[in-house]
Amino acid sequence: MKDCIFCKIINGELPCSKVYEDDDFLAFMDIQPVNKGHVLVIPKIHKESIVDLDDNLVKKLIIVGNKINKAIRKSDIKSDGVNFFLADGEAAGQEVFHVHLHLIPRFEKDGFGFTFPEGYVDKPERDELEQIAQKIKSNV
Ligand SMILES: [Zn+2]
Repeated sequence: MKDCIFCKIINGELPCSKVYEDDDFLAFMDIQPVNKGHVLVIPKIHKESIVDLDDNLVKKLIIVGNKINKAIRKSDIKSDGVNFFLADGEAAGQEVFHVHLHLIPRFEKDGFGFTFPEGYVDKPERDELEQIAQKIKSNV
């Protein structure tokens, strides 16, 4: 897509520090890393949402992500764990509207993490969980 920064990287119009490439995916260093070794994995086909990505590519996205995960762990990059993070939609924190999976090396006290909403510690009743499960189940 014309104005997509990731499509420009795929086409070579913008530079990247490449980590991995195959026919369907490209992985490269995030230019604004949370921690050193923060990698993005993107499909070469432009899709805004993972919802629109072919199931085979969804599978391969995780496989490629795990290849990078293993590689980070084998390297001497500081990493006691790795987050797989995919923001699907603006409200979920998506900033570039081309599917991308973040691989973020993590270690204790690295300053990164999730914040939880007020009331998070209050567990809902089983009835409420069942009602919500039904709403999702009926659409799977
Ligand atoms: Zn794109």
